[in-house]
Amino acid sequence: MPNSGSESVDDYLKAILELSGPTGGPATSNRIAQRLGVSAPSVTGMLRKLSTGNRPCVTYQKHHGARLTNEGRRRALRIVRRHRLVELFLCEVLGYSWDEVHEEAERLEHFISGKLEERIARKLGNPEFDPHGDRIPSKHGTLPKRKTVRLSEAPAGQTAVVSSVSDRDPEMLRYLQRIGLVPNRRLTVLEHAPFEGPTMVRLHGERQSRGISPKLARAVLLQEI
Ligand SMILES: [Zn+2]
Repeated sequence: MPNSGSESVDDYLKAILELSGPTGGPATSNRIAQRLGVSAPSVTGMLRKLSTGNRPCVTYQKHHGARLTNEGRRRALRIVRRHRLVELFLCEVLGYSWDEVHEEAERLEHFISGKLEERIARKLGNPEFDPHGDRIPSKHGTLPKRKTVRLSEAPAGQTAVVSSVSDRDPEMLRYLQRIGLVPNRRLTVLEHAPFEGPTMVRLHGERQSRGISPKLARAVLLQEI
């Protein structure tokens, strides 16, 4: 689907926000290209454009990648807020399941007015979390940090609660739902089998332990309790 100018800018800012992670480190052109499925030269061109003008959204240095300016971060968080509110709205009000909402939100996030955003937030009781457990940025553009660790990196023996799961793969979401590996579920990490083997966990409330593949374990974030 061809992107109009501002949709495409929004997607870049969102990608840089996600790739920068909690530390706010630079996002390299290659990773942005991978994330958005576009060529490296078009990324370079766009980053140049975003780093100029009156209120630049990124700082960009060749070979060093891009970082969001305050303006860029504010704009990225506004899109993320709309995305997550739409996801929750679709689940809670329209009865969508959690594996159906990401794709719809990817499209709708670009077309929501400030007014509609506020009405949705109010209808939902100014929620803090989306259906996948991700925190919804505030309307003032802040996003409190949560200390989380990937299931794949959590130390054996740790008991934790699932804080969020990646929302990008519907099939993965259906599987996680089926096995009950969903936000707020408690579990204990038993061991990480070597050589790309599974992470063994015990979900609280279940007798048997369960093996989680490395790919899945990287998609699940835990919060210590
Ligand atoms: Zn989503």
